[in-house]
Amino acid sequence: MRVTLQPGESTLFHTHSHDRVAIELSDATITQQRPNETEGAPEPKKPGDVMAVATSGPYTHRVHNVGPSVFEVLDVELLQRPKQPGSKAVATVEAENPSARIYKWKLAPGAASAMHTHERPYLIISATPLVLKMTDPEGKSFTHEVKAGDIHWVDAKVAHALANEGTAEGQIVEIELK
Ligand SMILES: [Zn+2]
Repeated sequence: MRVTLQPGESTLFHTHSHDRVAIELSDATITQQRPNETEGAPEPKKPGDVMAVATSGPYTHRVHNVGPSVFEVLDVELLQRPKQPGSKAVATVEAENPSARIYKWKLAPGAASAMHTHERPYLIISATPLVLKMTDPEGKSFTHEVKAGDIHWVDAKVAHALANEGTAEGQIVEIELK
């Protein structure tokens, strides 16, 4: 789910019922509010901020963009996990909940991640625009120009390193199902 709020705009009250992961795509300030409660304190958000929320029953809230810039977030609800038993983390875990692990690769121009192997299905998401080069263990590579919020679902075992071929810092987030 990709949510865009103009400055001053609010979502309606809505309910989350599953473990979820939020990936911020914008520099913005929001507040959150539960029904029959006052609005919470302003929360600054930066592109690439990730949050893994474990559900403990339905959670109802609304989100209000209180800053001067457009707020954009990807909200991924994790409805189902693979039936096979899970694997260990394949890289440094940035955040996790009972359904998924999140890896974040913050890449300076020319920098590359370590080579790692995904044993589980995963979503790869660019949190910023990026010229992304993916290299496999045999040295074969593909380069894609990606935009903030681009998402790709991969349901196969993949070994790769991720590199930034562009001129600005970029961030890639991977949400791997447990
Ligand atoms: Zn990866």
